[in-house]
Amino acid sequence: MANFNTHLNGAFAVSGTLSLVVYKAGLVNDPGFLMCVALGTVGGLLPDLDSDHSTPIKLGFNIAALVFAFGLVMHWRNELSLIALMALWLAGYGFMRYVVFRLFTRMTVHRGVIHSVPYMAILGLGLTCISYYGWHNTLTASWLYGLFLFGGAMVHLTLDEMYSVNLSGMTLKRSAGTAMKFYQHKDKGWYLLLYTLLALLIYAAPPFTAFWEQLRDPAPWAQLKVGVLPAFIEDILY
Ligand SMILES: [Zn+2]
Repeated sequence: MANFNTHLNGAFAVSGTLSLVVYKAGLVNDPGFLMCVALGTVGGLLPDLDSDHSTPIKLGFNIAALVFAFGLVMHWRNELSLIALMALWLAGYGFMRYVVFRLFTRMTVHRGVIHSVPYMAILGLGLTCISYYGWHNTLTASWLYGLFLFGGAMVHLTLDEMYSVNLSGMTLKRSAGTAMKFYQHKDKGWYLLLYTLLALLIYAAPPFTAFWEQLRDPAPWAQLKVGVLPAFIEDILY
């Protein structure tokens, strides 16, 4: 299994590059660009949330709770009084910190359930739904946020899979093939729950075809092609 630093660097490199691509293509705005980088990087750390030596993860949890509470306050900043906003902040933070994360650590007892493709797909799709229906972000931004979170997690699972291959002797360690996991028989109850949740989320998700059409639209990518090289080189070429 790859270590924390490898995951952090790997996920940051991949999500940073892809975020730049979608940003340069004009598919996300400035804050959206930062969101994509952050989500991809966080996604790269998520599957190991259940590892024992994860102080950075606990810190990450705390930050996530703060960001969530801040998001709530920002969303209702015009409708509510100052006292109500402060109460909302505390309630949001407490809810994430003591309800969601407690539940989460309960689940982590079943190692492998979190370290799996369907679990990460649920998180990605869930984020897309929250972003679109809850925060009223655009369809494109919402799908990209979910995809970046999921993509970061897939970078993580791929890295673990690669590290389970002993490169010097090209022999497979015993952990080979266990990282990129879709199902495990000993946790069949959990996987049944995961796939049921996933099916519900797919049903509830914002329209994918409209997002896909936008991605297939050649205009943003043409814009990207213009901005790939530094301006002085383009002056020479065109
Ligand atoms: Zn891992």
